[in-house]
Formats: sequence, structure tokens, C-alpha cells
Amino acid sequence: MIEANALTKRYGTTTAVDGLTFTARSGRVTGFLGPNGAGKSTTMRLVLGLDTPDGGSVLVDGVPYRQLKDPLRTVGAMLDATWRHPGRSGRDHLRWLAATNGIPAGRVEEVLSLVGLTSVAKTRVLQYSLGMQQRLGIAAAMLGDPRVLLFDEPVNGLDPEGMAWIRQLLHALAAEGRTVFVSSHLLPEMAQTAQDLVVIGRGRLIYQGTMDDFVART
Ligand code: ADP
Ligand code: ADP
Repeated sequence: MIEANALTKRYGTTTAVDGLTFTARSGRVTGFLGPNGAGKSTTMRLVLGLDTPDGGSVLVDGVPYRQLKDPLRTVGAMLDATWRHPGRSGRDHLRWLAATNGIPAGRVEEVLSLVGLTSVAKTRVLQYSLGMQQRLGIAAAMLGDPRVLLFDEPVNGLDPEGMAWIRQLLHALAAEGRTVFVSSHLLPEMAQTAQDLVVIGRGRLIYQGTMDDFVART
């Protein structure tokens, strides 16, 4: 579960996140919808402890990120799928991440299989399609087998087939009881992906509820 309470973040004179209160439940795919610049990425960074709020709080399974005893096993994220060492293979990237985080190497093969990249594990990431790069990002987020997952625009730029593939994966992860929190700036895309919905604009909450209720209202 993710619980934000009056969460606020300012950058100079810009209030990127403005008193935001919402809940993302376990066992559900929660969409996080808002136009570009609405504050989605900033909110995700606050959830992950990559930034400090100026007001309010955000809890991951009841605890602020920085106080989690085992953060990698609690929360995983893909904030963007650009790889800094594209000359290396997908498997090398995951092995490096596993090694630097004390995760057994065997887990790398499990997450490769989960995202359907086993057959291209030896291929250099620069030869991956965008969809494959996104799946590698999801694999990286899954290394610690976390209960809570955050994905920033995971289907952005993908073809319909790639979108459908990732959607199915997100549903499967939620069906296992995980919290899946996924951002987008496109409602039609979210409507096909998310069961619950949090909508923000200019850092403020516009809607929180089920996707069905939101679609019925609009
Ligand atoms: P979204 O992810 O919804 O596109 P962001 O969270 O990236 O929105 O941005 C929200 C607002 O905060 C925007 O006005 C953006 O320009 C501003 N912002 C985000 N990060 C920074 C930063 N590091 N420094 C200054 N302004 C920022
Ligand atoms: P930089 O990207 O500036 O080289 P990093 O902090 O990313 O520095 O990495 C530190 C070291 O770990 C470097 O020697 C780099 O080659 C290695 N490394 C970083 N990321 C990866 C990765 N994804 N796969 C394999 N090795 C990596």
C-alpha cells in the first residue's frame, strides 16, 4: 500500500506537489493520471525517498521509505528505462544490479523469465526495442521481489502489442497481492490498464476512486 497525506514539494517558486492525499491499495493496479508537469514523477520520487517532502508524508506499507528495514524487498521502481551502459547485455545489467544490492544471481534468471527476455538476455541493450528496454526496467524493479511497485509511464511509446504485454504483466503482479502504481498522461491508455485511479493536476488531487466510476462520470 502507498499512503500519501498532504504531501507537498516545492522547487523554488514552483509547487510541484501541493497537499496531495491518496491511497494505492495492494492487489490493485492504480493508475496515476495527469498532464505533463502535473507532479507525477515528483510524487514517485517522494515515495521512493529520492527527494524529501516540504510538507506532509508518504508511507510505503505503513513506513516512510527511508525507515524501511529492507527497502528492496518492499518497493521496486522503474522511473525511466534509459540504460547508462547500452553496450552491455540485459543479463549483465541485472547481474550488476543484483551483485551491488546483495541479491542472489539466480534471481536474475527468474526476473528475465518473468518479463520474457530470457532469449535475448545476451543481446546488447542498444539492440533492444523500446518495449524490451521497458521490460528490462520492470525486471530490474522486480529483483528484490518487492510488495510495492512504481512504474513511471511504462507503456509510453510502445506499439499496441507491447502495451498489451506490459498491461498483462502489471495485472499479474497485482493479482499476486502487490501494490502496482503506474503513471500516464493518457486516459484511454490508463482506462485499459488500471482498476483504481488517482488523477492530479498542478500537484493537486482531482479524483481518487475506481476507474469504472471515473469513466462513468466523464
Ligand atoms: P510529471 O511527472 O507529471 O510530468 P513532474 O513531477 O516531473 O511532473 O513536474 C512537476 C513540476 O515540478 C513541473 O512544473 C516541473 O517543471 C517541476 N519540477 C520537477 N522536478 C524539478 C526539479 N528538480 N527542479 C525544478 N523543478 C522541477
Ligand atoms: P558511470 O556510469 O559514471 O560509469 P556508475 O556509478 O553507473 O558510473 O557505475 C560505477 C561502475 O559500475 C562503473 O565501473 C560501471 O562500469 C559499472 N556499472 C554501472 N552500471 C552498470 C550496469 N548496469 N551493468 C554493468 N556494470 C555497471
